[in-house]
Amino acid sequence: MKDYKDNPYFKLFSTQKNNHYNVAQSRVRDRKKKLDALKYAIEVTYREEIIEALQKDLGKPRVETELTEIYQIVSEIKFAKRNLNHWTQKHKVSTPISMLGASSYYIFEPKGVCLIISPWNFPFNLTFGPLVSAIAAGNTAIIKPSEMTPNSSALMAKIVEDVFEENEIALVEGEVETSSQLLKLPFNHIFFTGSPQVGKIVMKAAAEHLTSVTLELGGKSPTIIDKTANIDKAAKKIVWGKFMNAGQICICPDYILIDKSVKTKFLASCKKWLHHYFSENPQTSKSYGRIVTDKHFQRLNSYLENAKQLNATFEVGGQTDADSKYIEPTIISDLKLESTLLEEEIFGPIMPILTYNNLDEAIAYINSKERPLALYIFSKSKADIKQIINNTRAGGTCINNTHIHYANHNLPFGGINNSGIGKSHGFFGFKAFSNQRAVVKQHTFGVTELLFPPYSSLKEKLAKLTVKWF
Ligand code: NAD
Repeated sequence: MKDYKDNPYFKLFSTQKNNHYNVAQSRVRDRKKKLDALKYAIEVTYREEIIEALQKDLGKPRVETELTEIYQIVSEIKFAKRNLNHWTQKHKVSTPISMLGASSYYIFEPKGVCLIISPWNFPFNLTFGPLVSAIAAGNTAIIKPSEMTPNSSALMAKIVEDVFEENEIALVEGEVETSSQLLKLPFNHIFFTGSPQVGKIVMKAAAEHLTSVTLELGGKSPTIIDKTANIDKAAKKIVWGKFMNAGQICICPDYILIDKSVKTKFLASCKKWLHHYFSENPQTSKSYGRIVTDKHFQRLNSYLENAKQLNATFEVGGQTDADSKYIEPTIISDLKLESTLLEEEIFGPIMPILTYNNLDEAIAYINSKERPLALYIFSKSKADIKQIINNTRAGGTCINNTHIHYANHNLPFGGINNSGIGKSHGFFGFKAFSNQRAVVKQHTFGVTELLFPPYSSLKEKLAKLTVKWF
């Protein structure tokens, strides 16, 4: 094995490596106990501190924290606990007659020592969510949360230290250098949530050890509104989905593609719902969040400047305040295709609107871009919905709503190509952290022995018969 003794995290890694077979053999009830301890910490002991930390880091309103952070983790734990007995069972499968005398099954066994790297936009949910799957599957894990949300990361470190033993679950705080050092170690699985750019760095590092990866990435998620859609209901759901967490969500509707004939009506409805959700002045609304860091505020501001320079139309918003990292909910149309807003993932409260004359045009535009994490469709036409789904690819889709596919633990969550590799949530998360081990048990006699050397003409005939009949 390579010498890692200069790596600052090798000692911690080795502690977990030395313990991972013990953890792997833990019974289902022990894993459930660990999940319960985490649930209690999040739901009871640290609930108020979580709300406070997110208020400081992202100006996140209490209701959003309850629903998009605490509830998501607690429900993931409940779901895993309800299903764990079934997931960990031995799965018997039939055995072909050519292997007569043998029986077969497969098991989900823990991968071993795992690394979880998480982003800042839903710090608790996107750190503890994958951790639930890692624990359910019987792994040890080292976690590296984002440095962009320091209050949340410090609190998560406290929670992990309080709830777990270091030789099972540990959390390391730090910046990019910390990630880079961790990525040099020969983990058995890496679960990364973040940008496609960093996803590529993670995958390269994983390739060094042929470590398996789950990459939960981002990108631009399109929203199509056709002329049959209930426009007011569409606006209600899109404005909610786009401006929650100030647009800093990987599955936010990134941009709108709308049938030209219904654009004006849609804009009027968007204005109505924005006003309803965040009042006339969103800056004073307790329901509206802030941009995470000055760097991200400047990035978004530069997108607005670029749109202005290219003579786009600001339909709503456009006001900013650098001191409080506030960006007003903004809707922009008449954008040039080369605008940064149409080239880069926005990850902020700015919603570009593009119009189309026929659905083929909208589909062609989507397919000229990277494959998205989410694709939303607002339509009453079964034919249009079918046409869109059959002619595009996306990690997930909601029809006549946004985001809610994320909340159903029975569904796989994840992207495709540029928006991710592998799936998470519920059974799919458990599977990501498990090796599916195939086992064949040979009983006293097996027909395969009839074909062992030396090869005679009779065995040649038998081999031919096997190919033909079994
Ligand atoms: P990011 O990729 O910049 O950072 C994510 C993590 O990687 C952080 O912990 C960070 O410290 C670490 N990191 C950053 N640069 C690194 C490097 N060079 N080497 C190693 N590690 C490095 O992402 P972010 O800004 O925290 O989050 C925003 C991105 O994440 C968006 O693209 C968004 O769409 C995506 N995202 C995806 C999901 C999902 O579930 N698919 C969820 C949330 C966010």
